Amino acid sequence: MASAKRKPAKSRRCKLESPGWNEKTRRALERLIDRGAGKNLPVVFDFDNTLVCGDVQEATLAVLARSGRLTAARLPETLSPSFRLPGKGLVTLQSGADLTEYYEAFLAPTAHGDRDPTPLANGYAWAVEVLEHLRVSEVVAATREACEFARAPHDGFIEVTPGKTRFPAPRFYPEMVELVAELIRHRFDVWIISASNVWSVRWMVQHELNPRLRQHGLKQGLRADHVIGISTLLTDRSGRLYKDALLVRNDPGYAALDEKTLRSFRLTSRLQFPVPTYSGKIACIFDAIGDRPYLCAGDSPGDHPMLVYSRHRLWIARLEKPGYQKKLAQLIRKTGSAGWMIQAARTRGEIGFVSAPAPVA
Ligand SMILES: [Mg+2]
Repeated sequence: MASAKRKPAKSRRCKLESPGWNEKTRRALERLIDRGAGKNLPVVFDFDNTLVCGDVQEATLAVLARSGRLTAARLPETLSPSFRLPGKGLVTLQSGADLTEYYEAFLAPTAHGDRDPTPLANGYAWAVEVLEHLRVSEVVAATREACEFARAPHDGFIEVTPGKTRFPAPRFYPEMVELVAELIRHRFDVWIISASNVWSVRWMVQHELNPRLRQHGLKQGLRADHVIGISTLLTDRSGRLYKDALLVRNDPGYAALDEKTLRSFRLTSRLQFPVPTYSGKIACIFDAIGDRPYLCAGDSPGDHPMLVYSRHRLWIARLEKPGYQKKLAQLIRKTGSAGWMIQAARTRGEIGFVSAPAPVA
């Protein structure tokens, strides 16, 4: 008897069910995913304050600074120029409670004027350059420690100098985990392009994101070589220099963050280019993906170039950053509102996505 031909199973439509989604954004994302499904279209996420609440680079820096593994005294003098800031006077590496105070000031080194479209770029690079001489294994160990602060009995903050400097421990937004899961399930090519150091982001993907994706029923999570961040040239005992972009493809132990392998590489002071901040993120997309993304997601002016470059855009509007929302409104006036999806998020107090429309104006 001839067997009846089976109809191919109809692929499941995208459904985003987490409660924090804004209704309009949720429906727009579902439609977008259904429309692009099965074509391996590239989708690019920023990491800090887009996929997670908090900043993994700052949290890692905070852990290293509070434990004394990273101090002003061990940094080369030329790395941290003194500079004057309006209302703050002279900022020097030694003038703050600890080096994270210098970092925060250095995030706006040109604040004496109001025309700098890329104020954060040098601060982001500095936060990785200060890790010079550390082993990659020490960087990921600090990230692991930073993530512990997100769990009880801690209060979610990493205090560097008591009463003066503290940073939130990063934690994934459940809605974004669900979105990544749906994108992978519907056969999109998902990437992360971050201005944090690449090893910390990769550790969080392997140990915090991928287990959550498995809970969503996925067999495979995000691949190590689909995580791009700031890195330096690396050196090993034989004195060779290496680039992260090559190691992650050619050395399975390195890609898997194997402790013994990571112990054999130390960071140098020299950055790998292009550096993924602002338009550098487009340069990274060009080099690694070679195609215009179908969808990009981001939360800060450092993401504006790649968002504009992308065919569709998801903006995570942090309610505590009205300045960012004002800049976004200016950008939308230039690009037109087509392709923009906006999702509000609270990053202090009761953190998480807020389903009410975001105040972008
Ligand atoms: Mg961000």
